[in-house]
Amino acid sequence: MKNKLLVAGLLLGSSVLAYGQDEKLDMATLDKIRQEGMQRSQVMETAFYLTDVNGPRIQGPGYVKAANWCKDKLTGWGLQNAKLEAWGDWGKGWAVERCYLAMTAPYYKSMIAVPRAWSGSTNKLQAADILFISETDTTALENYRSKLKNKVILLDQSFRISPSFKADADRFTDEELQKMAGEAAGSRGQRMQGDSSMRRLMQAMRSRNVFNQKMRKLAKQEGALGILNTTQTSKDGTLFVSGDYANAALGSTPDDLADLSIAVEDYLMLCRLMKANVPVKLELDVKTKFFADDIKGYNVLADIPGTDPKLKEEVVMLGAHLDSWHAATGATDNAAGSAVMMEAVRILKTLGVKPRRTIRLALWSGEEQGLHGSKNYVANHLVNTATNQLTKEGQNVSAYFNVDNGTGKIRGIYLQGNEAAGPIFSQWLKPVNDLGATTVTIQNTGGTDHLSFDRFGIPGFQFIQDRIEYNTRTHHTNMDTYDHLQPDDLKQAAIIVASFVYNAAMRDQKIPAKQPVTAQQATR
Ligand SMILES: [Zn+2]
Repeated sequence: MKNKLLVAGLLLGSSVLAYGQDEKLDMATLDKIRQEGMQRSQVMETAFYLTDVNGPRIQGPGYVKAANWCKDKLTGWGLQNAKLEAWGDWGKGWAVERCYLAMTAPYYKSMIAVPRAWSGSTNKLQAADILFISETDTTALENYRSKLKNKVILLDQSFRISPSFKADADRFTDEELQKMAGEAAGSRGQRMQGDSSMRRLMQAMRSRNVFNQKMRKLAKQEGALGILNTTQTSKDGTLFVSGDYANAALGSTPDDLADLSIAVEDYLMLCRLMKANVPVKLELDVKTKFFADDIKGYNVLADIPGTDPKLKEEVVMLGAHLDSWHAATGATDNAAGSAVMMEAVRILKTLGVKPRRTIRLALWSGEEQGLHGSKNYVANHLVNTATNQLTKEGQNVSAYFNVDNGTGKIRGIYLQGNEAAGPIFSQWLKPVNDLGATTVTIQNTGGTDHLSFDRFGIPGFQFIQDRIEYNTRTHHTNMDTYDHLQPDDLKQAAIIVASFVYNAAMRDQKIPAKQPVTAQQATR
């Protein structure tokens, strides 16, 4: 019967086809989405404004400027109610105004350095000696107390770097995708837990972090000028930089310690020189700024209103986090996802589709510091936080779709354990199989905003994306810039997101939820 329907549809040139079970797809509109997305894409122009023109989008004026640009752009495209919505108090915003670090003895060498987020400043250009700390047990710190004033602190690091024998960029192979499609729920998590060397590594990182926190506190108390940090992966000119956002809290003491991430090659050279008792001098000039005039966090929201009298109260959401870290312009994390989501609604709006359900775009802030924008949106709108039950508005959300895994094209979707959604999404992927999107996996994926929905049982999904250079070069680095964006991949992603959102908005039923979540589960 189903095959006959499909064949009949093709023979009659009907624009509504039934794939498999019961998914009626509006093939004429899906085809128009593809034409618009391929031939008149604006995704790279949007990405250019979010990155090159705007700059870093860390919490503060950098983020707010980008958010306002998005609001105006979305309004210009004809979306309704485009706005910045405050989700609550964040704390102080922050920006870098200047950063310079060099070694001046035993000879001059400039260094690659970026302040960690919410770092303080030096008072203009300062010359400084290094205080080299070789102990890493917290009780030994007290021995350094009187020696810290006007010093730059360097903690000994024992690791070595190794050359990269593997290519920086890759895509999922067919075998990898097939494996993901065949995996059972939770299998990935179990593997991680079973890995004892991973556990040891995490334990070592945690104790190192505790030590670093105590070190910073002491350094501030005793008037040190700065502290240098690195990571084993911060090599070949690529620095991995995030930061200490405890300093964003109101009432935290004014911070004039320059907290700098530097290239691992520079770092290890300084360690070797200090161990050999070669006199080393540094000079540094770091200026950062804290903003306490507006301590709120803001999300960007915009709608394409639904048209079906019975279904327009229901909402299909799509989103991405717009905020970034600050070492570069956050191109792959996550101007890419934001530009893809904006392009998806631009395509739908340009085609003049009349969705049955309301389509709502959300661009989140504070994701990098803990999913703050999306978590608070859910708390403010979708869940009664006293009971952990969904509000009427929460019950009306059919699904939330997220993009936050870099510039790579979409290869499929993570079901997040929602088995009932699997057959639906498999059918939705069929018309875009030829674009490389084929895989539906029961697996969970973590670390981003769909979790804010999923934890309360609202169907929340993240797409599977090719990694490209995400983990090797761009994710949270000083190389996360426009030139690392892949235009063809982003066009493909926008087309697939627009198709999914359109299908979800037109479907007779909402996307099925996982079994209801108890209050106890939701608070875990
Ligand atoms: Zn990130």
